[in-house]
Amino acid sequence: MNTWEKNVRRVVPYVPGEQPQRPVIKLNTNENPYPPSPGVQRELTAFDSDQLRLYPDPEARELVDAIAAAKGLSREQVFVGVGSDDVLAMSFLTFFGSELPILFPDITYSFYDVWADLLRIPYRTQPLRDDFTIAPEDYQQPNGGIVIPNPNAPTGVAMKRDDIERILAANPDSVVIIDEAYVDFGAESVLPLIDRYENLLVVQTFSKSRSLAGSRIGFAMGNARLIRYLNDCKYSFNSYTMDRLTIRLGKASIEDASYFEDCVGKIVATREWTKQQLATLGFTFPDSKTNFIFATHKTMAASEIFEQLKQRDIYVRYFAKPRIDNYLRITVGTREQMQQLMDALGDILSQ
Ligand SMILES: *Cc1c(COP(=O)(O)O)cnc(C)c1O
Repeated sequence: MNTWEKNVRRVVPYVPGEQPQRPVIKLNTNENPYPPSPGVQRELTAFDSDQLRLYPDPEARELVDAIAAAKGLSREQVFVGVGSDDVLAMSFLTFFGSELPILFPDITYSFYDVWADLLRIPYRTQPLRDDFTIAPEDYQQPNGGIVIPNPNAPTGVAMKRDDIERILAANPDSVVIIDEAYVDFGAESVLPLIDRYENLLVVQTFSKSRSLAGSRIGFAMGNARLIRYLNDCKYSFNSYTMDRLTIRLGKASIEDASYFEDCVGKIVATREWTKQQLATLGFTFPDSKTNFIFATHKTMAASEIFEQLKQRDIYVRYFAKPRIDNYLRITVGTREQMQQLMDALGDILSQ
């Protein structure tokens, strides 16, 4: 090995879902099947490229203020980043400096262990119960921080606010990050708790419920001191992270509450319909409060169904990992897409 290679920061990288370069029925990365709010298109059309000569506002104030207004917060309680992945990574860097291990579930968003490894943060995973629920008592041991998605991914299972509050109450000395990437699809947000728990950081994203995965907008909400620490780290790393156009698109998106509720309502209705159809075909799944369903079939292996769907240009997500290697994570698309999925599954399972 060359000398320089000994000093390389090595990491086993996160593997994102496939982004095929041709049209397929894409149910593998939890994107929203509906377009962003019409106001987003209006901003795009009206945008003058001359504005791009100038650096963007490092504080992205227009967007921070719009989020604060929509959530009933003050600007000091809101942090924005380039997707919630950026917000979460920055939060790991800012808050997880203890020598004690941070805690997160064994089956969860697969970026957490990657960031922990990259940033050399020790961690200890806590096993989900057999029904894929989180045991709050597992998070009542000495730790350097806690991160939990609610609802969890890829299981889709939501935790009650009271259970998260038990974790918060037991951990006044750690920052607790609740990753609410999917909360808009039917779980209880812990946002109302940020005034009571100064160690609570709530992270949300425009990627799923607001149809803006391609724009990369995420945000965190918490008490002003937490947000100040986050901003200090962010400005020390790269101050101009969100571009001028994205700031405007995000503002337009969050200001259109009725379009948002409409789209979320449609996805929730389609999810419930899809659950019934999947059950009829012999699938079981934990109850999902997200825009995806984590399903296993009683006779056919998930890996086999995954391959056969792919041959029919239907992409879902499969994780070859312990405990979940017989499950498929299926994003809820439009009703028409889900009908096509059911037709294909019916076909595959009857062979
Ligand atoms: C999708 C997702 C994110 C990140 O989404 P961004 O597009 O970076 O905002 C974060 N956490 C979980 C659990 C997710 O599923």
